[in-house]
Amino acid sequence: MDKHLTPGHVICLINPVTVNLSHNILVINCGSSSLKFAVIDPESTQVLIQGIAERLNSPDALLKVQPLGSQAIPYINHAKAMAAILASLGDIPIAGIGHRVVHGGEFFSASVLLNEDAVAKIDACRALAPLHNPAHVTGIRAAMENFPELPHVAVFDTAFHQTMPPHAYFYALPYDLYKTHQVRRYGFHGTSHRFVAEQAATLLDKPFTELQIITAHLGNGCSACAIKNGQSMDTTMGLTPLEGLAMGTRSGDVDPNLIQFLVEQTGRDIRQVTDLLNRDSGLLGLSGLSNDMRTLLEAADNGHSRAELAIDVFCYRLAKGILGLAAALDRIDALIFTGGIGENSAPIRARTLAHLKVLKPTLDHDLNSAHGRHTAGRITTTDSALTALVVPTNEELVIARETQRLLQP
Ligand code: AMP
Repeated sequence: MDKHLTPGHVICLINPVTVNLSHNILVINCGSSSLKFAVIDPESTQVLIQGIAERLNSPDALLKVQPLGSQAIPYINHAKAMAAILASLGDIPIAGIGHRVVHGGEFFSASVLLNEDAVAKIDACRALAPLHNPAHVTGIRAAMENFPELPHVAVFDTAFHQTMPPHAYFYALPYDLYKTHQVRRYGFHGTSHRFVAEQAATLLDKPFTELQIITAHLGNGCSACAIKNGQSMDTTMGLTPLEGLAMGTRSGDVDPNLIQFLVEQTGRDIRQVTDLLNRDSGLLGLSGLSNDMRTLLEAADNGHSRAELAIDVFCYRLAKGILGLAAALDRIDALIFTGGIGENSAPIRARTLAHLKVLKPTLDHDLNSAHGRHTAGRITTTDSALTALVVPTNEELVIARETQRLLQP
């Protein structure tokens, strides 16, 4: 049974002897209908408390805090949910607050200490991420009101990709659209791509700044990234997180003429077609069954032909995306799988490598089964021409570390 939460309950979770209290960072990920949080010591990587307020502004709004339990908070909005979350932290000392921000446009090529000017710039990117940035601004303002004395830092999904060269970030569109409306490729999942590539460099015992790596972040959203000498050179997502690979419910790349075709042929309006591409496509749309790879792998094993088709399309398009990114590099020192699918699914890694014969990978089946969510490591043989690794991502930890870095004088 869920326990009923009251502010202050959490204090008993913390052992002040074992926790270095001065480093704790509150990481906040404020989405359109949910608000996730975690208090992390970035040095020990210990998570002291974490939770989510979900289905905000609805009768079913719920606050879940691990390991305490859940509390119904009907119709609660972002600001009040933030206050409830902050109250649930009790006496845990916090050194700073790190906010995940999806879109930093061209304003931000690195994490930033938040002030009014920075918040206004995040707000100015709302047209580029209408579902995310307005919610981020609401969350940031609510947290700043509740904790005015603490430093607040924004960590951007787009920032890592600001090193992409113009030939990678320009669409072949009228140049004026870039000047007037900032239409260009931005890329996302930057904190994850950078984190797993750095971890891989440690595993390979080579400097991050001397490696050429392709990372594949495969979660509900999926993107791959070409990283050369520590910098993002190209990535599969673009202006928005719809471009590129096939995903859980997102189509990835389609012929842009498809939109008008569907408007004319199905009677949907443009908003409905955009929804179809974002919410009804990808693994879910192809299989007609689920956006969850676990369900599809099981169904395919039991002979579900459309689950099999969805998995095939997913792996083939991923391989094609990886080979496209090779154009940004001189060589591929390592291919890295991460994210819920990349970390947990040995069959998906194997099937993707099977489409990459041109890179001559030799899969080590035992290592592919052994490595994953809990153990990073190589999944190809030592003499394989392509080295492939699985490396668990930890975006919250990156945000906590970035926040701590910016707090240092
Ligand atoms: P993420 O967004 O990174 O949390 O990834 C979520 C996705 O990971 C889910 O939708 C599942 O498709 C996938 N996933 C999680 N566990 C497994 C597993 N054991 N095998 C295959 N896919 C998995």
